[in-house]
Amino acid sequence: MSDDPETARQIAELARDSRPLLVLDVDEVLLEFTAPFMRFLEAQGCELLLRSFRLTGNIVDRRSGGELDQEAVRSLIDGFFHAQRDWQTATRGAREAVATLSAGAEIVMLTAMPHRHRDVRRLHLDALGFPYPLLTTETAKGPALKLLRGDSNRPVAFVDDIPHNLVSVREAVADAHLFNLMAFRDMRRLLPPLPEGIVVTDDWDEAAVKIATVLGL
Ligand SMILES: [Mg+2]
Repeated sequence: MSDDPETARQIAELARDSRPLLVLDVDEVLLEFTAPFMRFLEAQGCELLLRSFRLTGNIVDRRSGGELDQEAVRSLIDGFFHAQRDWQTATRGAREAVATLSAGAEIVMLTAMPHRHRDVRRLHLDALGFPYPLLTTETAKGPALKLLRGDSNRPVAFVDDIPHNLVSVREAVADAHLFNLMAFRDMRRLLPPLPEGIVVTDDWDEAAVKIATVLGL
């Protein structure tokens, strides 16, 4: 079971597929997040300071210089996701790379965001050339991957920018092939060291080759 009953319900709706499985995060993997979120913040009179790999504590009011508290940050992120179609663009090379991989693998997009934003994200991903099934989760990603893979031993690859999502998947699916990809390069220097076994990729050109290899495509 996924820990999130709504995610489990979404997975149950998918057609059963026995091909190799490729699960993709959305923000910073398929869609740019940080760069457009910084522009969105500017339009709200705020600024993201690249001091550490977190949003809360690093978003300041440009007039007062004061840090926004967790509730204010959550509200800004919610506003951004609500308006994502006005702001977010596809990561360079993502559409072409995933289209090629989709010839031999089941592609599923797994985004950690409130379920209420799923419809808007669906519309936006369709418009940008990502017609693959989209799952939302409000809990850890690992259990969702385990459920998606099903009873078979088919190969699994997972791509995400956030270390704890990659670790969550490794804990749930020990033999999953894990890839870190981050569209906004300046954020990478703020990442904590990644646990062993996670392959860091610079861009979709590099990721696509490595994913095809581990999935046997
Ligand atoms: Mg992400």
